[in-house]
Amino acid sequence: VDTWNNVPLAPEDSIFKLTATYKVDTFPQKVNLGVGAYRDDNSKPWVLPVIKAASQALFNDPNLDHEYLPITGLPEFTSGAARLILGGDSPAIAENRVCSVQTISGTGANHLGALFLSRFYDFNGPKQVYLSDPTWANHFAIFRNVGIDPLTYKYYDPKTIGLACDEFLAALASAPDRSVFLLHACAHNPTGVDPTREQWNQIADAMLQKGHYAFFDCAYQGFASGDLDGDAWAVREFVKRGVPMLVCQSFAKNAGLYSERIGALHVVGSSTEVAKRVRSQLAVLTRSEISNPPAHGARLVALILNNPELFEQWKEDIRTMASRIIEMRKELYRLLTEEFKTPGTWIHIVNQIGMFSFTGLNAEQSQALIDKAHIYLTTNGRISMAGLNTGNIRYFAENLDKVVR
Ligand code: PLP
Repeated sequence: VDTWNNVPLAPEDSIFKLTATYKVDTFPQKVNLGVGAYRDDNSKPWVLPVIKAASQALFNDPNLDHEYLPITGLPEFTSGAARLILGGDSPAIAENRVCSVQTISGTGANHLGALFLSRFYDFNGPKQVYLSDPTWANHFAIFRNVGIDPLTYKYYDPKTIGLACDEFLAALASAPDRSVFLLHACAHNPTGVDPTREQWNQIADAMLQKGHYAFFDCAYQGFASGDLDGDAWAVREFVKRGVPMLVCQSFAKNAGLYSERIGALHVVGSSTEVAKRVRSQLAVLTRSEISNPPAHGARLVALILNNPELFEQWKEDIRTMASRIIEMRKELYRLLTEEFKTPGTWIHIVNQIGMFSFTGLNAEQSQALIDKAHIYLTTNGRISMAGLNTGNIRYFAENLDKVVR
């Protein structure tokens, strides 16, 4: 018998496929705007100077070994990571009611958070989670994998290329009490559209009123504004206001540690006792899935978070990345509106936040950029701003202009 004859062929991951097609393209002016990874002005991956310094320090440390880490991760890493997202003055940390566990980057944090909810959350009816429409595509699979059904709430308004705030608030109001809402903490992927502080407060009001649970995904702290504290504002405000919540944290983008798979899950409990129990269960789940997490990325980030000099250097590196992206936004806006006088409004390019911009291009126009200009982007019209640089931005603007005319 052919044991696996009944296995259907799965489609390739669209983003990884896009990169593979880009790689084999021999056109000299090709541009990759698909992948969500930072590139410098020469289109090259950037190893942050602070990571080079921390790697050197690790290399020179005669006491490092390769023993197993504790199940919940490197303690200096998880405590530093909690302070980074929740704030050094967080009441939840001071009251010792945060449970922090090291995870396989942000994806692993999302998975562990989802798995924990599927086991222990008191769902008011079927196991469901509300995701923003649109969202990072992997969210759907991550929740389905643990038996939680993903539903969506309206988040993005194609007419304004901005937040559909009224519809979002209406979804919060009409969902059953104690529903779980996934929220992007900052730099929403794929739209680059974040709520304002005032809108976050309205969202918090609605969540408190209905007893909803906030499942924060924070993959871009520092990337949105260049300021680690500013980008954590919504999370900290929700903690302050007592919205029940957890946070998934990734160091892939803000530390350029994509392949090191370093992240954390923070569950904010109502008391020390609750946090202790949650932690014990997260340890049981982690033990059965990965036994214990990998050390290298945790050591690098722990060094940076606990050494004031390295921490300052990191903040500077983050500003370097965020400012380059913001510059590219301004230049693209200038080229489209002043030089090419491209039809349509383009102010959303500068208003959007973080690594991505939702251009407003439709699937046909996006495909035309790929086919005619060798400019690779996802067909929802999302571009990674990090793929643009002083050498290719004019070529991109010129071709964007052609496909919308
Ligand atoms: N969440 C969002 C919204 C993302 O965009 C990403 C990465 O693209 C992740 C989580 C997880 O990334 P990683 O697992 O590399 O930390």
